[in-house]
Amino acid sequence: MIKLLPDNGYKDIFYNSEATMLIIGVDKPYYTIIDVNNAYLRATNSTREALVGTSVFEVFPRNPKNEKSENIELTIVSFDEAIKTKKPHTMTNYRYDIPVAGTEEFEERWWTTTNTPVLDANGEVSYLIHSPADVTELHQITEREQKNEEALKLQRQQLFGTFMQAPVGIAILMGNNYVVDLINPSLCDLYGQRPEEMMGRPIFDCIPFVRGKGFEEMLDSVLAGGAAVSGEGVPVLLVRERVLETVYVNFVYEPYREPDGTVSGVIVVATEVTEMFKARKLLEEAEERARLAVDAVGLGTYDLDLISGEMVTSKIAANILGFERPATRAEYVAAFHPDDLPLRNKAHEEALATGRLIYEIRVIWPDKSIHWIRLEGKVLFGEDGVAVRIIGTLLDITDQRKAREEQQKLITLVDNSVDLMSILNLEGTNSYINKAGMNMLGFEDADHVAQVPISELHDPAHFEQVKREVLPSVMGKGRWEGTMLVRHLKTGEIFPVYNNCIRIDDPVSGVPIGVGAVMRDLRPEIAAKQALADSEQLLRNITSAAPTTLWMSDKEGSVTYVNKTWIDWTGREYAKHLGSGWLHSIYHADRPKVAEKLTGDIVVHGLFEVEFRLNHADGTMHWCMLSGQPQYDARNNFAGYIGSCVDITDQKLLQQQKDDFIGIASHELKTPVTSIKAYTQVLERMLTRKGDVKEAQMIGRMDAQINRLTSLIGDLLDVTKINSGKLQFNDSEFDFVPMVRELVEDLQRTTERHILIEQHEPIGMIYGDKERIGQVISNLITNAIKYSPQADKIIINSCLLDDEVQLSVQDFGIGISEDKLTRVFEQFYRVSGDMQHTFPGLGLGLYISSEIIKREGGRIWVNSEVGKGSTFYFAIPLQPKNRG
Ligand code: ADP
Repeated sequence: MIKLLPDNGYKDIFYNSEATMLIIGVDKPYYTIIDVNNAYLRATNSTREALVGTSVFEVFPRNPKNEKSENIELTIVSFDEAIKTKKPHTMTNYRYDIPVAGTEEFEERWWTTTNTPVLDANGEVSYLIHSPADVTELHQITEREQKNEEALKLQRQQLFGTFMQAPVGIAILMGNNYVVDLINPSLCDLYGQRPEEMMGRPIFDCIPFVRGKGFEEMLDSVLAGGAAVSGEGVPVLLVRERVLETVYVNFVYEPYREPDGTVSGVIVVATEVTEMFKARKLLEEAEERARLAVDAVGLGTYDLDLISGEMVTSKIAANILGFERPATRAEYVAAFHPDDLPLRNKAHEEALATGRLIYEIRVIWPDKSIHWIRLEGKVLFGEDGVAVRIIGTLLDITDQRKAREEQQKLITLVDNSVDLMSILNLEGTNSYINKAGMNMLGFEDADHVAQVPISELHDPAHFEQVKREVLPSVMGKGRWEGTMLVRHLKTGEIFPVYNNCIRIDDPVSGVPIGVGAVMRDLRPEIAAKQALADSEQLLRNITSAAPTTLWMSDKEGSVTYVNKTWIDWTGREYAKHLGSGWLHSIYHADRPKVAEKLTGDIVVHGLFEVEFRLNHADGTMHWCMLSGQPQYDARNNFAGYIGSCVDITDQKLLQQQKDDFIGIASHELKTPVTSIKAYTQVLERMLTRKGDVKEAQMIGRMDAQINRLTSLIGDLLDVTKINSGKLQFNDSEFDFVPMVRELVEDLQRTTERHILIEQHEPIGMIYGDKERIGQVISNLITNAIKYSPQADKIIINSCLLDDEVQLSVQDFGIGISEDKLTRVFEQFYRVSGDMQHTFPGLGLGLYISSEIIKREGGRIWVNSEVGKGSTFYFAIPLQPKNRG
């Protein structure tokens, strides 16, 4: 069963409906509120009591702060419309602010409202159902969105405007072919194309000359890797207005990313910098040129602040001043040569007046080398006229200075040359002649030089030769040299000169501008040659007349000259003696030793003497002494020998006679002296026995003198034997040291003043003639005693050196001067001098000793100092195999 709604059941539905509703009367202009539902009360924060029976516009008045709003008018229109049409009328999204209860304030509200007319039985509108929906929130959202959208639109418009008007070129290239998706006029201009020609086409089709210059790769890399690429001042070849030209471009390629992040194209931003680039290049080139120029001449630069004293220098400037890197002004000044400082200070003073600084100064580098520096500068003045800065350059002019000095030297040299040096101009007069030249030709002074034409410097016939031969050669080939005759201006003497003429050309144009001449007066040379010829002739005459032979050999030992005397002696013609031919005249047994002197001594090139026998033309044989003196050329190289050959046959004969005489005499003396000695010894013994001590002593002294006589005779006999090659040796093994000790013991007895000190190394047995070696030692010790009368000791030392025994006898006596050291071993040689006569002797002891030592295969020598003493040494081999 259907339960009917109660009477007020519809009212309940109305009150409780969720849709906001108001029932409004049609009593225009009041539109009184007849009823209201709960949802409406909630939506408008009001109470039924406040609303019902009141005009709707009274309860919901106009918001005074929103005067422009026509919400009331709009609502009335809607009411009227609904009444008039008797159909619902809807107002969408309009503003109608609601008063806030208990305040004067309003709350902004937006509504969409339908006014529905309710008709009575007569079909007239009896009231309106006003049902507003609060759309404030929705409205606000829509409004915001609208604003956003407008702003975005605006932004896009602005961006596009900017893009199109941007002074930089921008384009978006899409895909692998880099199709122009968007391009602005700037970039089109840069490419020299119109936008419609480029849009939608691959970029490289539009600008084909750019292909293959690396741009594709750059774009590819951006497209592939997504990293931006940029370039600055990159040259690009483009056809613009039908002209192919290189333009310089700064550009950036950026990846064009899709919303999902993938790179689908490249954004190109490019600006043309051709002008700027050209200008910059020009500037750089100019700078580079300037820098090169400065560097090339090694110019240093500096900037000196006169107020603070601070000085800024370039590295080169510092280098020029001897510093590795720029230093302070004080450090630089400290390096200046102190002598030059006053000059520099004066230059600075002057600079303040003239505005220009210039001076040259010496600078001492850390390595103490001196460098000449030229400083130049411009003074800059402040507004008050005070000098504030000097900017300038400095240059190492050491070389220039040196060149100047060299030039000065050259001038001095030319001025002081003994040869004539002149410069002849093309007019036929000399523009310069040095002092020597003026004297040679009789010029008075420089003016005189300028006035006299060269024709006057020769007699007419000789000048013809100059014109015909000399001048054409100089002007044509550039030089002439040879002998010519000149005339002295004052004396008229005509004399020969050797003239060396050179054409002087202008270094720039190459055109001849003069002739330089160096002229040597040949008179002294001719005189000298004559003198030489004369002296040569004289020499030839002398050598031919000389009783001795003269000869010359070359550096190979081959004879190149023998004089007439040699030819006379040998009776063979000149040519036969040249080379080694001369040896044929020498007695055959002597030939090798003579030949050896000339060729064998080639390496040593010593002074030599050699004795030999020569076969004379008349069949006789003569003893000769050939001596040779080594000759050296200008470069000190051995050039051969010059020597002489003297006939010594007579001397030889005399020597022989002397040797024979000494031999016979000493032999004859020996027998009586031996018997005297025997008698003396018997006599001494008899007297001693008788007790006649004094007499016995005298006889003892006599015996000592006889001993000396015996030894002198022995020496003489030895010499004779040596000279005739008859000195006998009885070699055997003997113990060396005991032999020496025994000898020393005996000799110690002969001197009271000297102590004979022995120092011996163990030597052992040696092989040789014990008597003869003993004779040598005894001779050396006797000499040591004899020639050191003031000294008190003599040192005898023996030692082993390698396979030799060496013995030395050292005394502290008178010594021997250096030039006599080797001569003491010569036969009959005695050092002459003041003390000579104080020491008796024949000058044979050392000669005999040296012969003995030589024969034993050893060496003998002496070290000595005058006044300090001498040490005589000999060394002989231990074994006979080494003996000569
Ligand atoms: P002499 O019979 O004159 O001593 P020597 O041949 O023994 O002859 O010596 C030659 C010369 O050498 C001597 O005249 C002497 O001038 C010098 N002489 C030799 N031994 C010594 C010495 N020990 N000190 C200085 N001079 C010496």
